[in-house]
Amino acid sequence: MEPWILSERPDAPEEACGVFGVYAPGEQVGRLIYFGLHALQHRGQESAGIAVADGHTMTLRKELGLVPQVFKESDLSTLDGHVGIGHTRYSTTGASSSWENAQPMLSSIGPNTIALAHNGNLVNTVVLRDKLKTHGIRFRSTTDSEVMVTLVNHFTQEHHSIRGGIREAMKLITGAYAVVMMTEEALYAFRDPNGVRPLALGQLPGGHWVVASETCALDIIGATFVRDVEPGELIKISSTGLESEQAVPRGREALCIFEFVYFARPDSSMYDCTLYVARQRMGAAIARSAPVEADLVIGVPDSGTPAATGYAIESGIPFGEGLAKNRYVGRTFIAPSEMLRQQGIKLKLNPMRHALEGKRIIVVDDSIVRGNTTRKLVALLRESGATEVHMRITSPPVKWPCFYGIDTDTQEQLIGAMKSVEEIREHIGADSLAYLSIEDMVASTGQSADRYCMACFDGDYPIDIPDAVRKGKMALEKPAC
Ligand code: SF4
Repeated sequence: MEPWILSERPDAPEEACGVFGVYAPGEQVGRLIYFGLHALQHRGQESAGIAVADGHTMTLRKELGLVPQVFKESDLSTLDGHVGIGHTRYSTTGASSSWENAQPMLSSIGPNTIALAHNGNLVNTVVLRDKLKTHGIRFRSTTDSEVMVTLVNHFTQEHHSIRGGIREAMKLITGAYAVVMMTEEALYAFRDPNGVRPLALGQLPGGHWVVASETCALDIIGATFVRDVEPGELIKISSTGLESEQAVPRGREALCIFEFVYFARPDSSMYDCTLYVARQRMGAAIARSAPVEADLVIGVPDSGTPAATGYAIESGIPFGEGLAKNRYVGRTFIAPSEMLRQQGIKLKLNPMRHALEGKRIIVVDDSIVRGNTTRKLVALLRESGATEVHMRITSPPVKWPCFYGIDTDTQEQLIGAMKSVEEIREHIGADSLAYLSIEDMVASTGQSADRYCMACFDGDYPIDIPDAVRKGKMALEKPAC
């Protein structure tokens, strides 16, 4: 669920970046990337950037804001070349919203330049920085993307090979990363050994290659999904075609299951499953496990809608629209006045009284992280005439912080870690509250549990978290099994 009152943090984890890369001589590469980023806007709304190159010169434009705010028609005509990458950003590690932290990040290697865009989060950035300082490597910030680009640069000079440089960097970095990178001549894509963040490989009708965080970004430019970039794989695309290698050994596969629950767009596919279908199944599963008598099923738009339709079909209770969403609200920097704040300015969601009045409502949402927005939502539905409000959440309680690129704060701030389900129900003021089980969540994706990271639900982190990184984030120790 997204923020509906501007001044508050949202009640769901925040996305952390979309990446896009294309190698297409003869095509308008800047324009292809623009549309790709447009499709990935939901993964990050703080900044957007595009880098392109024509074999000799690299051009970069990045700025704070949404994709259409950052790029004008006149910018796109100057972003010309045969290869390019793009990025939409939501900040996690190291950092505030600033131009320097926007991506792609550039780094010079002798006479050449590389640009890199990253989705995910490294867990050993600080350790690496300290270790590498002793080898004379200097970093300007603590952002993990800068560490990555600096490492690739350093090892490329040492090995006299970009692929060698990436390979060496991949051996040292630990954490979640789905990366697109380019030189003036070639496009590179690589993914962490566990495959935590998604990265899809596609092909344009003319045969040119595209890489994107989600398949919806392939669809928008008419590209066809070919396969995923595999965990630990490094791909190079250049005038000699596509070359692939297993740069580092595969670890346990651990795609973030929250992509299925909430992050990815419903029209994207992962593991051969359209996310809309997976979310409908999640809604149907919770209708079976937590039935309740009611008059109307509504979803919290947009992410709760597919699951709400699944709930309605399974239960036989009619589905309806009870909340109108303003889809054009980005991360505005204009704060509402105190007067508007006190009125509970409804920037994103507005309840529809005619649909709610006198009815017992089932509200389907994807997750509850901190609980405050859900509490306000329940109050708003009651004020709008709902006689009963039953919350159904299509994921288990979020109990553990994410260290792999999703902003879920400290464990103390996670209501699922600090309160029982009954206490949460009381806190949000709902008549009933039920969560989907881990088993039903996994089954809804059509895959087995061993293909996923589910650490924020079960505390089982597929990539070890150094103590220095855990420190201050954990309020509780993981209970013994
Ligand atoms: S901890 Fe949760 S949000 Fe983070 S990668 Fe794992 S499943 Fe996704």
